[in-house]
Amino acid sequence: MSILRPIASPEMTLPADLPEKAFRSHAPGYWKEANVSASDWNSAAWQLRNRITSLAQLEQHLVLSQEERAGVLLSGNKLAMAITPHYFNLIDPVDPDCPIRRQVIPRIEETLDDPAEMADPCGEDSHMPVPGLVHRYPDRVLFLVTDRCASYCRYCTRSRVVSGVGEQHLHMEHEAAFRYLEKHPEVRDVLLSGGDPLLLSDAKLESLLQRLRSIEHIEFVRIGSRIPIFLPQRITPELVTMLRKYRVWLSIHTNHPRELTTEVREGLDRLSDHGIPLGNQSVLLRGVNDDPEVMKSLVHKLLMCRVRPYYLYQCDLIKGSSHLRTSVGTGLEIIESLRGHTTGYAVPQFVIDAPGGGGKVPLNPDYILQRDERRTLVRNYEGEAFEYPEPKAIMATTW
Ligand code: SF4
Repeated sequence: MSILRPIASPEMTLPADLPEKAFRSHAPGYWKEANVSASDWNSAAWQLRNRITSLAQLEQHLVLSQEERAGVLLSGNKLAMAITPHYFNLIDPVDPDCPIRRQVIPRIEETLDDPAEMADPCGEDSHMPVPGLVHRYPDRVLFLVTDRCASYCRYCTRSRVVSGVGEQHLHMEHEAAFRYLEKHPEVRDVLLSGGDPLLLSDAKLESLLQRLRSIEHIEFVRIGSRIPIFLPQRITPELVTMLRKYRVWLSIHTNHPRELTTEVREGLDRLSDHGIPLGNQSVLLRGVNDDPEVMKSLVHKLLMCRVRPYYLYQCDLIKGSSHLRTSVGTGLEIIESLRGHTTGYAVPQFVIDAPGGGGKVPLNPDYILQRDERRTLVRNYEGEAFEYPEPKAIMATTW
């Protein structure tokens, strides 16, 4: 391989002092005056019972903008608002553009009508052979086991059914789904999602996992969950011991480095120590993580927690998400700023879930400059070009 020429010298070097890279506990935060006992604070049940769900509760702690106030008042018709005390403590009270606030506090923009947006942007409903089971790819299925979450993300792809306040409801038929899986030996991979499966009780979750593991052709079981971020108190020794028994993988969902607190790191450590492989999926969101430095902090912190950054999603065309969506180019620039500039394990695959149900499509910056039957011309992260000769060309030269 020979260096041809430098084609660019991108200014991709990031400062060593990345934003919000330290692990911190934010407890008791807004609950300081309430004198909550440590055992209450560390209980998932207490966290769920004390979620912020109303305008009055929000306004006890934060000064809301007009857009947020109106958004909260209207959220009851679309996607409910609920924020665990643990997660609420991450909100900066004086920053109206706080990246945590943007993810969970509704805004009036959620009611704007953009003709490109859809209620079901990934076309899941049209790929459901039985209610709650999405079979879109040849060998794997998405099994929606609940419609509830610990907190609700304003950009949720499944906001049409999640939280139970919208017009559409998720009719889960677990037994029908199991019967379908038993009859389909081509399905080797099941992703449990929802809603958030880790919100189910240990007993309920165990009965689902037990049933899945009794189907011989199912090789790989994953759970998609934002609970380790919204409600780290739920990651108990009992839960991880049970998950280990069923050999599951866990895909967590975090978008901003501040979300990786000391409590979250402890929960993730517990999962890793029990041999549960961890990956992360992030959604690219305007004003949250559409910045190379923020994303670099996030992926570094994930590696420190032994979580592999897996996907970075271009935000789906979900109704009312235009204020949170960024350009595809922003995502490509972020990947460009990471690839080669930091650990390869830290670089997620940037994807678009093709609108209407086409499945995930990987997006990469253009590293191939030219390709023909004789050679491939590539560029590296510093913009230098290199030529890789194809085998035939080598043979022709040698003979
Ligand atoms: S946790 Fe997942 S399913 Fe629940 S609201 Fe957030 S994105 Fe949607």
